[in-house]
Amino acid sequence: MISIDCSKSLAIKDQLLEYVADKIKALPILKSEKILLTSIDDNQNIDKLDVLDAISEFLESVNLKENFKIIPKDDDLKIEPLDGTDMKEKLEKISEKNKNPFLECTHCGFMTMYEEELTTHRLIHYI
Ligand SMILES: [Zn+2]
Repeated sequence: MISIDCSKSLAIKDQLLEYVADKIKALPILKSEKILLTSIDDNQNIDKLDVLDAISEFLESVNLKENFKIIPKDDDLKIEPLDGTDMKEKLEKISEKNKNPFLECTHCGFMTMYEEELTTHRLIHYI
């Protein structure tokens, strides 16, 4: 079992959990500020390197790679923030995305969850 300590990185915990669990096909258990990852298949152990990879991939996908570092200690991984540039802004962006899955048309307030639909919709304002 691998644990990811998110006590210093709560802002990204939920998204990280979803991403990593899906990526390495593990069963995530949230325990206060830690994510515990257990293998779905009892015969298979989770490879710490896979978890490390998945975390870096996640950080890259949300553009926060320079803002966090991963500190491995035995089967414990800790994610610590670094004071990178624009960190606050980037974090606000991902928590906003989390709060409201809908995209809104700035012209009329039309809402959709799909970017393509919004693009198509927006066209009506330019005719
Ligand atoms: Zn509109």
